[in-house]
Amino acid sequence: MRHISKKLILVALISFLAGILWFVMVRFIMYESDAVHYHANFAVYVDGQRETFDNFTFYEEVASCGADELNNPKARGHMHDNISHVVHVHDYGVTWGHFFANIGYTFGNDILKTDKGHFVSGEDAKELRFILNGKDVDSVANQTIRSEDVLLIDFGTSTDPELQSRFQSITRDAADYNKRDDPSSCTGDKPLTFTERLKKSIGINS
Ligand SMILES: [Zn+2]
Ligand SMILES: [Zn+2]
Repeated sequence: MRHISKKLILVALISFLAGILWFVMVRFIMYESDAVHYHANFAVYVDGQRETFDNFTFYEEVASCGADELNNPKARGHMHDNISHVVHVHDYGVTWGHFFANIGYTFGNDILKTDKGHFVSGEDAKELRFILNGKDVDSVANQTIRSEDVLLIDFGTSTDPELQSRFQSITRDAADYNKRDDPSSCTGDKPLTFTERLKKSIGINS
C-alpha cells in the first residue's frame, strides 16, 4: 500500500512538472512582443502648397525615444529622419489629433493651425477637407491612426479632382516601414533575444 502511494505521488509530481514545462514551452513558441509599432502615410496642403515640414523640430530625436518612452506623449506618434510623409505610431489609440499636437499643430474638424498660421474652414470661402483612404470624410482628428492609413488634409478652394490627385501623389510606403525598426533606441518591436524571450515565457520581468 505504501509502495503504491509513493508511486502515485511520483507520477503526480512528474505530471505536474511536465505540465509546467509544457506551459512555458507553449508560451515561448507563441510569444509575441506586445510593443506597438506601425506606420501610416499623410500629406498636408495649404492653398495648393504641400507642407514640407522642413524644420528639425518636427522630428523625434532618437535620444528622446528611450526607456520611459510611453510616458512622453511625443513618443506615442511622431516622424523620424526628416521623412515628412510617414507617421510612426508606438502606442494604442493614438489619433491623428494626437500626432499633429505632437508636432505643434492644432488639428480639428474645422481648424488647422500650423507653424505658418491658422486656417479656419469657411473663412474666405476656403475649406478644410480630408481624404482618408480615398474617401472624403468630415472628421479625422479624433480617429485612431490605423496601420497603412493614407490621409490628405487640404485647406483652400481645391476642386474634387485636385484633392484626388493630391491624395494619389502621397507615397504609400507604410507597409515597408512596418517591417523595419525605428532609428536606434526608438524601440518599436525589436526582436527579443533567446534569454529575454525565455524570461517572458516563464513570467520573469526584468
Ligand atoms: Zn517606425
Ligand atoms: Zn519612433
